[in-house]
Amino acid sequence: MSDDLSICLSCGLCCDGTVIGFVELNDEEKPSIKKLMDIEDEGGNGFFLQPCDKFCDGCTIYEDRPKHCGTFKCGLLKSVEQNELDFNVAVDMVHEIKQKKRVIEEQVTTQQWQLTSPSFYFRMIELKKILDENHEASNLSKDHFELLKNLNELELLLLKNFEVSLF
Ligand code: SF4
Ligand code: SF4
Repeated sequence: MSDDLSICLSCGLCCDGTVIGFVELNDEEKPSIKKLMDIEDEGGNGFFLQPCDKFCDGCTIYEDRPKHCGTFKCGLLKSVEQNELDFNVAVDMVHEIKQKKRVIEEQVTTQQWQLTSPSFYFRMIELKKILDENHEASNLSKDHFELLKNLNELELLLLKNFEVSLF
C-alpha cells in the first residue's frame, strides 16, 4: 500500500493477495519486520506471502511497514495520482475486481478445488494452469469452463486497470 492513502484505502487489493502474491524484504529491515510478523527467509531472501496478516481495513503497521509496501504503485494508483483517472471511476474499478474475485472464490468452494497456496494470487495461478491444460484436452465441464472464463476476465481487468498480470 502506497503513501497515497485515498484510493489505496478503498482498495487493499495488493495487501489481500489479489494483485501481488508476496512482499520482498530488504536485508536491513528483516530483523525489525520479523518482530512484527512471521516472515519467510529462504537462502537469504526475506519475504512474506499475501494476504498480509497486518491488513485489516488498512495497514495496521503503517508507520513500520516494509519498504516495498511504501514504494509499490499499481497502474490504477499511478493513474489517479497523475489525474488521468477520476477517483470515483477508480473506486468502481476496484469494486468490479472485488466482485469478480468473490464470484471466483464461490466457484472454487462450490467446485471443491483443493489448492495449495494460502494466497489468492498463487491459488489462481495454480487453478488457471490446471484449467488451461484441461481446456486444451477438451476436458472441461460447463462449470469448470465458467470458472476459467471468470479467471480470464479477472486477468484482463487486472492487466487493463492495474497494469499487473496474474498469469
Ligand atoms: S492495488 Fe494499487 S490501488 Fe490498490 S491498495 Fe495496492 S497500490 Fe493501492
Ligand atoms: S505490511 Fe501493511 S502495507 Fe504491507 S502488505 Fe501488509 S498490510 Fe499491506
